[in-house]
Amino acid sequence: MRVVSIPMRTRFRGITVREAVLLRGEAAWGEWSPFLEYSPQVAEPWLRCAEEAAAGLWPAPVRDRVPVNVTVPAVGPERARAIVLAGGCRTAKVKVAEPGQTTADDEARLEAVRDALDSLGPGGRIRVDANGGWSVDDAVAAIGRLDRAAGGLEYAEQPVATVEELARVRRRVGVPIAADESIRRAEDPYRVRELEAADIAVLKVQPLGGVRACLEIAERIGLPVVVSSALETSVGIAAGVALAAALPELPYACGLATVQMLTDDVVSEPLLPVDGALPVVRPVVEEARLDALAADPERIAHWEARLAATRAVRKDQRP
Ligand SMILES: [Mg+2]
Repeated sequence: MRVVSIPMRTRFRGITVREAVLLRGEAAWGEWSPFLEYSPQVAEPWLRCAEEAAAGLWPAPVRDRVPVNVTVPAVGPERARAIVLAGGCRTAKVKVAEPGQTTADDEARLEAVRDALDSLGPGGRIRVDANGGWSVDDAVAAIGRLDRAAGGLEYAEQPVATVEELARVRRRVGVPIAADESIRRAEDPYRVRELEAADIAVLKVQPLGGVRACLEIAERIGLPVVVSSALETSVGIAAGVALAAALPELPYACGLATVQMLTDDVVSEPLLPVDGALPVVRPVVEEARLDALAADPERIAHWEARLAATRAVRKDQRP
């Protein structure tokens, strides 16, 4: 077990440094990087994902490249434009409904993103992610305004917090709705299907217990899937790529182009997009990078204790 600590380029999800545990298994390295506030119960499926990767249990790919989106945080228009132009992707995912900001801020960001995408050529797509930040009425109003500002939205991800609210918003807007937190944080991910609450399922391999677990959810939920990351190093991203590569259909770009949000990586060739897509490869971990990025001894001790607590959850669950 190795623990790395990597500064981020932009504050995201309230953090400026990303910590990750790399676990060496029979076949390869796996990544375990639950966010710091997560309980052992919540972190347990993340560990299953790392162990599956380390054991080499991924399904065979059916494609050799995975189209990806560039992610635009809740930044100002000039920064948003620069991020899209530097990303080289034909799809942009834009964060909206940030606390402390207004819909006008979101509109300005989306106009800048549309402008930047159009300058790269025709056919650029824009999706927004509100992380459950709106009420139902606010979501209906905001989605209409943002759809116009963006020159058409591909979809709106998790506009409201609960699956019931998601279903209500979906019946009142023309823009397709994607469910993210309503699947990965839900007791029952299939409520989204029962309530017809979404048009698209966003799946993340670590919170949902690995690549094979996600393939099963994708089959049972009966919706097109967008595979997204949890801000991993290239080792964790490779698991998301393995899922995206194994899905029978992949109609949307995936949210897996996030290693550039970190200032460094643990592999020799980071999983960065080329012409808007990631290659379906397993990157090679460099021991020297693990050494250079090693966390402080006290942080390593913290993660060792967390790993023990997370494994203890499994023992508790046994009859
Ligand atoms: Mg999301």
